[in-house]
Amino acid sequence: MSRYGGYTLGRMKFDDSQEKPDLSKEMLLRISRYFLPYWKQTLVVLVILAATSVLGLLPPLLIQQIVDHALPGKDLRLLALLVAGSLAATVASGLLGVLQSYLNAFISQNIIFDMKNQMYRHLQGMPLQFFSNVKQGEVITRMTSDISGIQGVFNGTIVNFASNLLMLITTAGTLFWMNWKLALVSVFVVPLFVAPTRKMGSLRWKLAKETQEKISEQNHIIEETLSLSGYMLMKLFTKEDQERDRFKAVSAETTRLQIRESMAGRWFMMLVNTFASIGPMLIYLCGGYLFIRGEITIGAIIAFVSLLGRLYSPVGQLTNLYVDIKRSVALFERIFDYFDMEPQIVDAPGADSLNGAGSAIEFRNVSFAYQPDKPALRDISFKAEPGTLTALVGPSGAGKTTITNLIPRLYNADSGSIRIGGADIASITLKSLRSSIGLVTQDTYLFNGTIRENLLYANEEATDEEITQACQAAYIHDFIMKLPDGYDTVVGNRGIKLSGGEKQRLSIARVLLKNPSIIIMDEATSSLDTVSEFYVQQAMNVLLKDKTSLVIAHRLSTIMSADNILVIQDGRVAEEGKHQQLLERNGVYKDLYDKQFGKKVT
Ligand code: ADP
Repeated sequence: MSRYGGYTLGRMKFDDSQEKPDLSKEMLLRISRYFLPYWKQTLVVLVILAATSVLGLLPPLLIQQIVDHALPGKDLRLLALLVAGSLAATVASGLLGVLQSYLNAFISQNIIFDMKNQMYRHLQGMPLQFFSNVKQGEVITRMTSDISGIQGVFNGTIVNFASNLLMLITTAGTLFWMNWKLALVSVFVVPLFVAPTRKMGSLRWKLAKETQEKISEQNHIIEETLSLSGYMLMKLFTKEDQERDRFKAVSAETTRLQIRESMAGRWFMMLVNTFASIGPMLIYLCGGYLFIRGEITIGAIIAFVSLLGRLYSPVGQLTNLYVDIKRSVALFERIFDYFDMEPQIVDAPGADSLNGAGSAIEFRNVSFAYQPDKPALRDISFKAEPGTLTALVGPSGAGKTTITNLIPRLYNADSGSIRIGGADIASITLKSLRSSIGLVTQDTYLFNGTIRENLLYANEEATDEEITQACQAAYIHDFIMKLPDGYDTVVGNRGIKLSGGEKQRLSIARVLLKNPSIIIMDEATSSLDTVSEFYVQQAMNVLLKDKTSLVIAHRLSTIMSADNILVIQDGRVAEEGKHQQLLERNGVYKDLYDKQFGKKVT
């Protein structure tokens, strides 16, 4: 099934893609679509590149005039003019360079901006399953370093290609125009650059790829061990030494690779520099010969030598270009990999709003599997009438949470239908569906902000009075008022500064502020002390009053007061009824009850 296949395989696909980037026409077209909105700026960059490549030719040519005419003729005026001309060309080219850098940055950063937003929107639409499968930290890596990597793409490919090609053509043209024999001699050295450049390019690419993998492994360790829960796990199992060694080993490998990568560059530079110095020697030798024969001037030899750099450097860069293109395409591939994962839970075409449809919940023959051939729910049918409390009980792993997850469509049922107020939830907009449901989970998620900010997340427009009312109803107001900063107290990551009971009551207050017609609640299994238990119970009574509620029940009081109890076992509804009826049946429920609560009541 594609539901998870795509996500877990995503990583492997990326690793393969780095070996052989997909340079197909479709891929290139897809990439160029991101550049399209900036075609005007790109065009200006190309014009600037053409202008600077011509301007760059001027100083050597003017030097030729100085040596051949101004100096022998002792013409001070001409000398000053030629020097000024040469200076002006350099300054103009420098100014254009500044403008070009600005445009480079403008284009790259805007593409990054577009992609980041597209990615964020896309990830928001991904189903829960995606986030349970993806490696921790990977989403952040894709959102930040992968997308930021695009920064170098425009410069590394389009600009690199155009500027080097233009420089090569204009320089070669000028050299042949000046003296074709000497030009042929200079070209003779060119193949010497190509072979080592290609080899070094491949080596650096390989090292860069390995380095990147190690860095991502390193980030993963950081994410895993220096996040709140990872840190606690590490401390409680006293794995500090082990984790430190693991981190050190990966770090050492990264360091080694990075040193190798920069040294690969150094050897390459040394080779290229050596070959580059052969060129001028040859020109002095052959040019000198032509000078002695009276075919060429000294100025021309000097101009030739200074133009040589403009011939050799683009050859080297162009030979290496394919590495940059490969790297850039691989980068885009990694990003597209994510874009290609379809968000499966989306509004059906023509989906309706739930408004006024009522709050009765009905499951009709619902089946669902997280993994193929391992059904978590089989043929579940039940009805929860408006304003009633339905308790879900059953052993752990029976499928209770799965039932509650299907209602706000955190997952889609594989077959059967779920109806709210008679309307199939598959045909209702997700927004209206989810805003009519309040979910209180065991693991209350609070973000690291103040209590007030956490409450306002449910309803931005809530007034202070409404907040206070909700907190009073949830029996948490008095506690908050005793905190040094009251409602402005910061709760810490995931609300770590609050106790379990306090977090749950705060989360109840948050749902009260949202005021949905349906409440889904997973009661905390962790035993609270009697006082907390009492307060949570009071808060729940307020929350569930007049609401259609589905509670995964762990407390006897909840079960006793439920209008209907569903006993879930092995993904099926094994028994259904009220507490007393179920006890009398002497079946699964009775068994469960005896094990869980028997001792407490007798
Ligand atoms: P309960 O809430 O009754 O303890 P759950 O609904 O959480 O049970 O789980 C039902 C079954 O589905 C279990 O076998 C569990 O291992 C499996 N399951 C739960 N969540 C996932 C998931 N995200 N991916 C794969 N299997 C899951």
